[in-house]
Amino acid sequence: MLSEGNHVNLTESFHDVSLSGGSILKEILANIGSGVVVFDLERRRVLFKNFTAENSEEHIRVLSDAMKSLADDEEQLIPKRPVEFFDAESGLWFDIKFSRLQWTDDEEVVLISSSDTTLKKKNSTRNAFQAQNDFLTGLFNRMKCEIDLKKAIEQTEKNKQAGAVLFIDLDNFKNINDSLGHDYGDALLKEIGIALQGIMGLRQHCYRMGGDEFVAIVTPENYGLLKKILTNISFAFNKPWFLLDSEVYCTMSMGVVKFPEQGKEVNELIKKADIAMYHAKKAGKNRYNFYRESKGDVSYRRLEVESNMRQAVEGSCEEFVVFYQPIVSTRTNRCTGCESLVRWNSKALGFMAPGDFIPLAEYLGLIVDIGDFVLETACLQCKEWNDTFDKNFSVNVNLSVVQLLQQNVVSHIKNIILGTGVNPKNITLEITENLAINDIDRVKNIISGLKEMGVKIALDDFGTGYSSLNYIKQLDFDIIKIDKSFVDEILTDDYEKAFVKMIVDLSQQIGAKVCVEGVEEEAQYLLLQSLHADSIQGYYFSKPVPSIEFERKFLHG
Ligand code: C2E
Ligand code: CA
Ligand code: CA
Repeated sequence: MLSEGNHVNLTESFHDVSLSGGSILKEILANIGSGVVVFDLERRRVLFKNFTAENSEEHIRVLSDAMKSLADDEEQLIPKRPVEFFDAESGLWFDIKFSRLQWTDDEEVVLISSSDTTLKKKNSTRNAFQAQNDFLTGLFNRMKCEIDLKKAIEQTEKNKQAGAVLFIDLDNFKNINDSLGHDYGDALLKEIGIALQGIMGLRQHCYRMGGDEFVAIVTPENYGLLKKILTNISFAFNKPWFLLDSEVYCTMSMGVVKFPEQGKEVNELIKKADIAMYHAKKAGKNRYNFYRESKGDVSYRRLEVESNMRQAVEGSCEEFVVFYQPIVSTRTNRCTGCESLVRWNSKALGFMAPGDFIPLAEYLGLIVDIGDFVLETACLQCKEWNDTFDKNFSVNVNLSVVQLLQQNVVSHIKNIILGTGVNPKNITLEITENLAINDIDRVKNIISGLKEMGVKIALDDFGTGYSSLNYIKQLDFDIIKIDKSFVDEILTDDYEKAFVKMIVDLSQQIGAKVCVEGVEEEAQYLLLQSLHADSIQGYYFSKPVPSIEFERKFLHG
C-alpha cells in the first residue's frame, strides 16, 4: 500500500516515453478531447499523458485524483464501470474509465481516461425537465401528475389522511382558438396556468394533461383547504382573462374526486374526476361537481356505457344498427326518401336509443367511427333501393359537429360516399344548427366542399339553436328541417304557425326546401301542407324502422 505523503503528483511525475508509432499517434491522442494517462501502479509512475494546453488543467486534476484513489485503495481494484467525477474548481463533470493493458516493456499498467460529460449531464437534466413539464404553460405534465398522485395516495393510506384530484376542462376553448386564433389560445392556457399556481394550496400541484385539460392535486397537507381551493378556482374563471390586447371570458367545468376514499389507483382517480367533470358539463358547464359513488349511480353507468361503447366500436361497429324513418312529400303524399337513424343493440346493455349514447360518443370522439359506419351503411342501402325500386329515392344521414371538425372531413366523407357507388345526389347530409356559429367561414368551406360532389345539405333541428336567419342565408343549405318543438302546438299556437310560415317563405327566397319533423297527427300534416312545407317526417307516417320493414312498408308498390 502507498503511504501518506507518497501520493502521486501527476504534474511532477510526468515522464514521456516514446510510443511505437511515435508522434502521429501522440498527435491523435492529443486531439481526442479526452484526457488519457497510462499509469504504472506498481511503481507509481505516469508513463504517458496526452494533455494539451486547453484541456490540461481540469483533466490533470481529475486524473490525478483518480490515480490517487486507485493507488490509495488497498486492493487496487480497477473499477469495471466508468466513475463519475465532479471537478469543483471548474464546475465540470467527468467520466473516468480504467482499463488494464500490457505496456511496451510487458509490464501491466493501467490506462485511465477522462471525458468531459458536463454537456451530456446538462442535457439529461433538461430532458428530465422536459419529460415532466408542459413547455407551453410551464406546469407539470401528465406523467409528473401520475407520479405525484401515486405518492400522495400512498401517503394518505399510510397516515390515514385524505386528498383530492380536481379535473378541469375549459368550456369554450375551441371557440377562442377558432375565433381569435392560436396565439390567444396559447396565451389563455398560460394565464390559466399562472392563475392555478397562484391559488393557495395548489402551488407545485398543477398539471396540464393536454389540450385544455388541467388537473390539480390537493395533497393531504392542503386537504383542509379543499373548499377554499374550489371557490378560488371558480372565482378565477368567473373573471375575464386579459389576453394580449383583449378581455376574453372562458369558464371551466371541474370534477372532484377524493382519495383514498373513492379510489386508490392513479388512473381510476383521474378517470373518476373526469367523469365528475363530464357531469358538471352536462349540468350546464361553468361549475364543479363531486364524484358520487353508489351502485347504479350515473357515474357507474357512464363508465359501463363508455367501456362497452369502446369495445363495440373496436368490434367494427357490428352492434350498431341503422333504422330508417320515411320522409313524405306534401305535394304527392308519397314517401320520397328517409332519414337514417342509428341504434345500438348492445349485448351487454341492451337496446340503446341514440339519445342515450350519442352525446357520450361525441364527447369521447367515438362518434367519428360510428358516424362513418352509419354513412357507409346508409349509402349502400340507398344504392340498393335506387337500383331495385326508385332511382330518385334519397337517404338522409346525420353528421355530428365532432365529425365536421375533423381534419380533411370533406375528402374523408367523399371517399366513403363514392366508395359505396351510390349516386351522391340521392344523399342528404344533415348538419345541426348548433355548429360553431363563430366559425362561419370554415363551415362555409366544408359545406361547399361537400356539395361539390353532388350531395345535398340539410340544416337539422332548425329553431332550437341560436342561428339567425342571416346565418341560414349565408350558408348554401338545400333543405331546412324545422324542429319538432315547432309542431307540437302548431294547431293552437299562432306563434308556431307564423314561424313555420316565415321559414317556408324565406326558404323559397333562398331556394331551399322545408322539411318539418315530429308530425304526429293528421291535422298537423294538413296544416303544414296548407303552409306549403315541402316534406314531412314523423310518427304520423312511421317511427324509424329496420331496413327490411322500411322496404316492405314504403318501397314495395
Ligand atoms: P334528429 O336527427 O332530430 O332525428 C329525429 C329524431 O326525432 C329521431 O329520434 C326520431 O325518431 C324522432 N322523431 C321523428 N318523428 C317523431 C315524432 O313524430 N314524434 C317524436 N316524439 N319523435 C319523432 P332518434 O332516432 O331517437 O334520434 C335522436 C337524435 O339522435 C337525432 O335527432 C340525432 O340528433 C341523433 N342521431 C340519430 N342517429 C344519428 C347518427 O347516425 N349520427 C348522428 N351524429 N346523430 C344521430
Ligand atoms: Ca337529423
Ligand atoms: Ca332533427
